[in-house]
Amino acid sequence: MTDNLHTRARQLMDEERVEGTLSSENRAWLAAHLRDCDECRAAAAAATAALATLRDTGVELPRGLASRTQMRLRLRAGELRDDRPGTNVAWVVAAISWAAGAATAPWVWRGFAWLGEHAGAPKPIWEIGFVLWWIVPALFATGAVVAERRENPSD
Ligand SMILES: [Zn+2]
Repeated sequence: MTDNLHTRARQLMDEERVEGTLSSENRAWLAAHLRDCDECRAAAAAATAALATLRDTGVELPRGLASRTQMRLRLRAGELRDDRPGTNVAWVVAAISWAAGAATAPWVWRGFAWLGEHAGAPKPIWEIGFVLWWIVPALFATGAVVAERRENPSD
């Protein structure tokens, strides 16, 4: 058996997980390959077990997110047919929001401390201001994700 066949099998397994379906020709080919190939059968079982573990730990993932992420690692962005760009934008906004908050935290902390001193505000007040500055944009972004998902419960 050549590596090509295993590569094709892994691609079809990914496709099935992402798209939720395969053409009958591909499904038959994959089933036949898995019957004959211990290696790919083990890989399929491991992937299924990993997803099941994620579910069992109670991590609430949008359906298909894990497999879509895995798919993105393998495919060039342009090759991915994604009919749900809104979801991706919201996730990116949430991620950027957290990253920006973390990256700028030391400066913002100093800024709030300076303001607190010069405005004579009690320390707890400017500390709360700092925390709000950090988490509010992320909360908005997360809220946007939740709202977007609520409008599209099929995802
Ligand atoms: Zn194989």
